[in-house]
Amino acid sequence: MEAMMTGMINNIFFIIFPIILYQMFATAGQRNFFVSHRITMTILFSISIILCMVFPYQFLTEDYIFDLRQVPMIVGALYGGPLVSAVLFIVSAVGRIAIGGDGMYIAILNQLLVAAGVPFLGPLYRKVNRWWKAALVFIISIVSLLFNMFAGYFFFGDPIHNLIGIWLMLMLNQGGIIILTALLIEHLQKQEYLYNSLMRHEKMETVSHFAAAVSHELRNPLQSVKGFVQLLQEYEYPRAKQLEFQQTILEEIKVAEDLIDDYLIYAKPVYGEMKRIEVEPELSHVIKIMTPYANARNVEIFVQGSDAASPILGDSQKLHQALVNIIRNGIEAMTDGGKLQVELETSAHTVCVHIQDEGVGMTKEQVKRLGEPYFSNKSKGTGLGLMVTYSILNQMGGDITVESEVGKGTKFTLEFPKLPNG
Ligand code: ADP
Ligand code: MG
Repeated sequence: MEAMMTGMINNIFFIIFPIILYQMFATAGQRNFFVSHRITMTILFSISIILCMVFPYQFLTEDYIFDLRQVPMIVGALYGGPLVSAVLFIVSAVGRIAIGGDGMYIAILNQLLVAAGVPFLGPLYRKVNRWWKAALVFIISIVSLLFNMFAGYFFFGDPIHNLIGIWLMLMLNQGGIIILTALLIEHLQKQEYLYNSLMRHEKMETVSHFAAAVSHELRNPLQSVKGFVQLLQEYEYPRAKQLEFQQTILEEIKVAEDLIDDYLIYAKPVYGEMKRIEVEPELSHVIKIMTPYANARNVEIFVQGSDAASPILGDSQKLHQALVNIIRNGIEAMTDGGKLQVELETSAHTVCVHIQDEGVGMTKEQVKRLGEPYFSNKSKGTGLGLMVTYSILNQMGGDITVESEVGKGTKFTLEFPKLPNG
């Protein structure tokens, strides 16, 4: 009995551990990593299957040896779809052949049916709520074991002894564990979903804050378009002059368009893959987006940038969000206006962005609490900006340091590991 428990717990560990590992390394803010990381998922579930098969356990009696490989196979097929399922089948079939012995054909046939059949239930599975999901995996798991039982009986004349004592127990055992596994994955996905909506919420809050400043900036190009159109209506200008005015009108419209585009791009939800990006153009873009907001608050942004290459591994949308949050805080800290210095500094192994304001500053205690969710000293603050920023930096392997003095100002430094040039 004790050996059985140990063996079973090992099997459970083989299944659960890769899922947790997966969650740990997956980057939050992705649409859904059980969908967008099919390859990682396949590898991890393959490892689960192999470990389960290599370390099976005796189930209740001496002569019944069992393992939980069906759990990752079924779960993998449901979440991953036909392709993942096919790879998991190959892994488990090869593994089963390597083990050899009685029951090999039944086991492989069973794995084939699971791998081929279960993906068809995927669409249904994704639609239902988690209690139905639990029921569905439980039923699939039982049907699969029933198949084993009857196949042994019909094809090989294995008597079905101890229907209740062994088979029913087996079904409850595997069924319970597969429910646990499915619920765990659902839970992790829900966490991720909540995190993503938090990030979106923070972003929308920022965007709506910008709206007033942007509409103000839009007034300039619109006013000049209006002026030129009125001129063209009132006087009969020579053709050359008309063309010149029309050109100016087009340029002003372009200015307005770009302004709107910048905001629309920024307002897009952030999902994305980590890839090689240059910090310098991204920083310039962010400063462009922030300028109307700064102007509206009498803040002037000064930029000192090195022209050196600044390649890092990251996602440009997320980098924008991180920079916007910090620059926005700097602008908001200067209630009577002032200067915001932004500096890009690259060294052999790092790319640093320094953002320094002349605002209210913070006490040591306040600095310690930065990044805590809902920590805000502003009457209308969300206290989510820096939380999101810290988590983005974390994903990119970066670091944030803060130097601050009450009444003098604050300097945030974002440090990223630099990728090799070229
Ligand atoms: P919010 O801006 O919505 O309050 P944040 O997470 O962006 O939330 O910031 C949390 C708090 O940290 C702010 O309320 C503010 O008190 C403090 N803070 C952040 N940046 C600065 C800064 N540059 N100068 C002074 N205080 C700051
Ligand atoms: Mg903020």
